[in-house]
Amino acid sequence: MTISAKWHGCDLTDDQLTVLEWLRDFCQKEIRANGAKYHKSQTTPWDIIKKAAACGIYSDDFFKQLFADPTGLTAALGIEELFHADPGIALAIFGTGLPAAALIANGTQKQVDEWLPKCFGTAKDPKVAAFCTSEADAGSDVSGMKTRAVYDEKSDTWTLNGTKYWITNGGIADVHVVVASVDPELGSRGQASFVVPGGTKGLSEGAVLDKMGFRASHTSEVVLDDVVVPGDCLLGGKDKLDKRLAKARKNESSGGSAAMATFEGTRWMVAAMGVGLARAAYEYARDYAKTRVAFGKPIAEHQQVSEMLANLATDIYLARLGVIDAARTYLTTLHLGAAQGSKVKLFATELAVRATRDAVQILGGAGYVNDHPVAQWYADAPLLTIFEGTSQIQKNIIASVETGLRVR
Ligand SMILES: Cc1cc2nc3c(=O)[nH]c(=O)nc-3n(C[C@H](O)[C@H](O)[C@H](O)COP(=O)(O)OP(=O)(O)OC[C@H]3O[C@@H](n4cnc5c(N)ncnc54)[C@H](O)[C@@H]3O)c2cc1C
Repeated sequence: MTISAKWHGCDLTDDQLTVLEWLRDFCQKEIRANGAKYHKSQTTPWDIIKKAAACGIYSDDFFKQLFADPTGLTAALGIEELFHADPGIALAIFGTGLPAAALIANGTQKQVDEWLPKCFGTAKDPKVAAFCTSEADAGSDVSGMKTRAVYDEKSDTWTLNGTKYWITNGGIADVHVVVASVDPELGSRGQASFVVPGGTKGLSEGAVLDKMGFRASHTSEVVLDDVVVPGDCLLGGKDKLDKRLAKARKNESSGGSAAMATFEGTRWMVAAMGVGLARAAYEYARDYAKTRVAFGKPIAEHQQVSEMLANLATDIYLARLGVIDAARTYLTTLHLGAAQGSKVKLFATELAVRATRDAVQILGGAGYVNDHPVAQWYADAPLLTIFEGTSQIQKNIIASVETGLRVR
């Protein structure tokens, strides 16, 4: 392997560098430049999604390319770059990554080949996809999910009923991956994932949610009212589900729930988002602190300000290393043991909250008004500590793994 360049302290090959420089160029020209506009309007940035699709950055091929690099560097640093540019627009572009990961984690190769391209659409006609697990009364506690899927053997179809809440790309997606209970008595172990194709009767958008941050990313309620899908829309297939349910009924290890299989594969990606946002805030505050003068010298020369900067620079470096390590492990084994995904998500997303708060503090009054992006980023950051498992849930998972006890 020939190392051609350093990228935030990481050694990259020519191929990795080419992809990341291409992405960085698009991020700065199209995403960073439009962040404030879409944060204000709270609308989906279709023009940017279309530009990303036209140049190949938004496509199933590019998604596969990011994840084909077994070192984890292209995926980890690529996601970091997108969210460094602007978190809201980045999620509008990368939000399809979660249902895509659910397809890969739960689907057969045939299902992945059929549905992954449909999640992204084409270069001329891009589409988005949604992953629907949460419900108004069941977010952290997925076992409380009320959405049901009932099988009809005669017609080989599933009928889904329920209401999902807080769904990224909900209602505007062409492919909805829906987690539903097939055996309520088994709690989260009695759940399965289904693909609901665009235009399926009975699936509709409910309330569109008004948010404090990530406003360029569409979030809504999704209503499933007697939604009928063919048997082959069950991800992984009926045989696999029946075997898993039989084990769960005997109280044997069944490999966990459908939602958890997805989250295990995506937590390091949310951590990469956290590193990107933390770096954006840190760099902005650092550059401001070098030019803003108070008491006759740049504020970066005041020790309390430089301490915040030094702490952030150190933690961003360490968070990035953790994300790359988790990405490499997941992409080479499709498994993350020792709560590795939870550890990096917890550290990197809490870091994003601290970095954006410190950036506002370092900019002072200028940070509190919308002349600079740091106030927006401060509103964006907490979502990363909430979705795909809150920080408290990550701590429960980590503590359970570390102690061998069931921490809840
Ligand atoms: C903008 C946005 C986009 C989202 N996108 C999606 C999406 O695309 N698909 C999807 O399925 N979901 C999505 N979600 C939902 C998200 O995953 C949930 O909001 C999240 O899992 C938390 O669930 P909750 O909101 O019900 O909080 P609750 O579960 O009600 O938790 C409330 C508080 O209690 C704490 N708590 C709960 N249980 C415990 C416990 N056992 N131990 C300690 N503390 C606990 C939590 O940490 C939190 O602080 C999105 C949410 C938002 C805001």
